[in-house]
Parts: sequence; C-alpha cells; structure tokens
Amino acid sequence: MEDLRKARLREIPPVNEVLFHPGIAALQEEIPHLRVTEAVQEVLASVRQQILESGDIEFLSRPLEVDFLAAQVREKATREHAYHLRRVINATGVVLHTNCGRSVLAGEVVDFVSGIAQGYSNLELDLGSGERGSRYSHVEDLLCKLTGAEAGMVVNNNAAAVLLVMRALASGREVIVSRGELVEVGGAFRIPEVLKAGGANLIEVGTTNKTRLKDYASAITDNTAVLLKVHTSNFRVVGFTEQVGSGELVELGSSLGIPVVEDLGSGTLVDLSQWGIPYEPTVPEAIKSGVDVVAFSGDKLLGGPQAGIIVGKRSYIDRLKKDQLTRALRIDKLTLAALEATLRLYLEKREQEIPTLALLSLSANELSARADALAASIRLAAGTKILADVEQGYSLAGGGSLPTANLPAYLVSVKPGLGTVSELEEFLRQAETPVLARVQKDRLLLDVRTLLPGDSQAIARVFHTWAQQDKEY
Ligand SMILES: *Cc1c(COP(=O)(O)O)cnc(C)c1O
Repeated sequence: MEDLRKARLREIPPVNEVLFHPGIAALQEEIPHLRVTEAVQEVLASVRQQILESGDIEFLSRPLEVDFLAAQVREKATREHAYHLRRVINATGVVLHTNCGRSVLAGEVVDFVSGIAQGYSNLELDLGSGERGSRYSHVEDLLCKLTGAEAGMVVNNNAAAVLLVMRALASGREVIVSRGELVEVGGAFRIPEVLKAGGANLIEVGTTNKTRLKDYASAITDNTAVLLKVHTSNFRVVGFTEQVGSGELVELGSSLGIPVVEDLGSGTLVDLSQWGIPYEPTVPEAIKSGVDVVAFSGDKLLGGPQAGIIVGKRSYIDRLKKDQLTRALRIDKLTLAALEATLRLYLEKREQEIPTLALLSLSANELSARADALAASIRLAAGTKILADVEQGYSLAGGGSLPTANLPAYLVSVKPGLGTVSELEEFLRQAETPVLARVQKDRLLLDVRTLLPGDSQAIARVFHTWAQQDKEY
C-alpha cells in the first residue's frame, strides 16, 4: 500500500502543468490568473492529502489523471469567482419575497442611483447657501407632498423607525398597545421586544379579538408617553372582533396631549384598489385622521429601497432627528437616491412603472398568456424530458403584506420525465442564474407573475440544459 501511495504522490503534477492544460488555459480568459492558480494549488493540495490519508487500495491503485484534476480546478475556480450576491429568477409568485430582496426597483430609479454612486453628491450640503445641509432634505418635501404630513425623515428600515420613535418619545415611560396588535413580523421583529429595546414599558390593553376605546382610556396614567397602533399587516383576525380606529384614538390622545403613533408596516401612498390590488390603509389617510407619527417600510408595497420612513407632526419629527440613535440608524446615500427617484414616480402619477405595483396588478388575461408562452417554450427547450402544463392558483403579495389577498395566478406546472421533482428543483436553484420555483409533491410550479423581462427565455435555457444531461437514475 505504501508503494502505491508513493506512486500516486509522484504523479501529482506541478502547478504549471495544470495551468497549461487546454481547458484551464482557456478558463483564464474569463477568470483572473491569480484565482485560477489559487484553485490549482488548492486542488493539488487536497489530492495530496487524500492520497496521504487514504487506506483504500482501490483508490490508491488508480493512476491520477490530469483531465480529472483540471475538471476539479475548473469547477472550483468558476464557483469561487462568481459573486456571492446574485440575481435570481423569482418564479414563486411571491411579489415581496423577503428572502429575494423584496421590491425590485424601476429602471429609472436604478439609473439615478448609479449616477449618484459614481460621483460625489450634495448629500449633506445645501447648494443654495453653501452650508452644511441635511440628508433628509432630499426626500422630506416629497414625503410631505405625498402624505400630507408636516415633516418627515428616513432611517434604515421600518424596524429601526419604530425603535427610534419609541426611544425618542417614550424611553422610561409607558406605551399603550392593544393585545390584538402585538404582532411579530418575519425576521423576529416583535412589537413587545422593540418597545423594550427602545426603553419603553409596554401596557397591553383589551383582548386578542376586541379592544375598545375605554380600554385605552382607563390605562392612561401620568406616565403614558404614546398610544401606539400597529397595523396587523401579515394576518387578519376575523369574526367577533373590534379594534379602535386611528381617528378615535387621536381624539383621546389629543384631549390629553398624548401622541398617537402608528406603525403602518407596509405603508402605501395611494389606494391600491384602483389597480385591482386589495385595499390597504394608506399613509395619507393616517395623517388625515390626525395620527402624530406614522412609520412604514420603503421596500414593501411602496416599491422602493429598504428604508424606514417616518412622517408626522414637525415637533415630533424634530425630536427624532435630534436623537442620538438617529445617527446609528441613518440611511445611506444609495438608498436615499433610490427613495427619492421612487417617490418622484408617485408625484408624477407614474405608479404603474413601479415594478411591485405593476406585478401586483397584472391582469388574469395577461398572466394566462404569459403562462401559455412559458409552458410552450419549456416544452420546446426540453422536448420529451419535461411535461409542462398550465394550471390556475393564487399568488401571494409576501413581505407581510395583503395576507388575505387572493391574487389570481397562472402557474406553469412541470413534471420531470427523468428524475424527481426535488432533483429538478435543485437543478433550477443551482443554475447560473438560479430559478426559484414552488415545489408540490409531484410537480414544480412556476408562477409567471414575478417573472421580469428576459426571465422566461432564461428559464427555457435552463430546461434545455436539464434535458441535455445524460443522467442515469
Ligand atoms: C414589515 C413590518 C415591520 C418591519 O419593517 P422592515 O422595513 O422590514 O424593518 C414593522 N412593522 C410592521 C407592522 C410590519 O409589517
């Protein structure tokens, strides 16, 4: 065995020999030489280790082949050279897929971000006076115009927004919340915990299904800092229920000088029902009803970048801007650029150019036509190796939004002629541009609602590759 081991060790080629192998030489046109050399060194080192440690006669009897080593190098170098954060094709139909980055930005928005990113900007410079300016100035007027609020600011995300509001307005004091609104949002954002992190004491009132105005009224003490309303954006309590509307809460709060804060979650700036998307309470409605401070996400139904937007009465927003925590939660310039450009689309009544809203409002006819076309191109690409049909179902808004919305979906259902559904799912997920689909027991479902331009062609190419493999099962 030791003789075999020595023979194999002698066969390990020098690094240069592998680098000059035709397949590897060609690879260096796409991948920097340094990375390829590193991959060769690592593959050779691991083969040496395997030979030194193996007690398997059969393995040690097999001569080393440079072709085999080259293939390993190729695979390793290609895998390691790819960006870790990648564009994926979302065929799940979940429009605001938190794991897939929620909202997709409009082309015009991306162009604006790119321009700002490639140069210096007036991020914190007032071009009028030449003095130091505020980063919030770029979006504050837009936010006020779109929501009717007196003032506004933006932080990293809505979780940060709620934390900041609690810390700045209620630290060391009491915040009253209905038991029906003590929500948990994905990624472990829980209202009770956020209040605690902000140093506020939670006072729960009412029950899960019913809370009345007198429940709030009788819980108010000298130490009450905020009446908090939380939009139950990711679930609904139906049946024997009662919650207090923002308007009534505002009446109670303002009579006692206690601010009402509303976490709207997925804040929408306009009534979505005009495009056939189920109604969600809007930010302008909350402001109009007198709510003092409203916090909402930038990348949910608004369709912009990840951000936490806070609008409301100037006196409160000023207190937030001055809080120490604001500096730690501040929004960066690329996000701010994306937000300004997205808000402009609202101002110009070009909401339909915002991908999130466009995808949510696709008509059943359009979806059906797209599904038929995708099914046909998959059949064409994969021949007899795939069965592709169209079936009807539902899409989800996702991102903790519109939990009860039944958005009509046309799904391309595929069954592999060879192999299993989970093998096909893995093959799609590991494609160069990964394709994410819904898995059912006996078939894979591709929801065309969330496909973007070019995605259908890319999917067909992946199915073509699937059909070409000569797998044995
Ligand atoms: C989504 C959501 C949040 C958290 O917003 P992020 O922008 O994801 O941080 C907070 N509150 C409610 C009600 C939400 O729906």
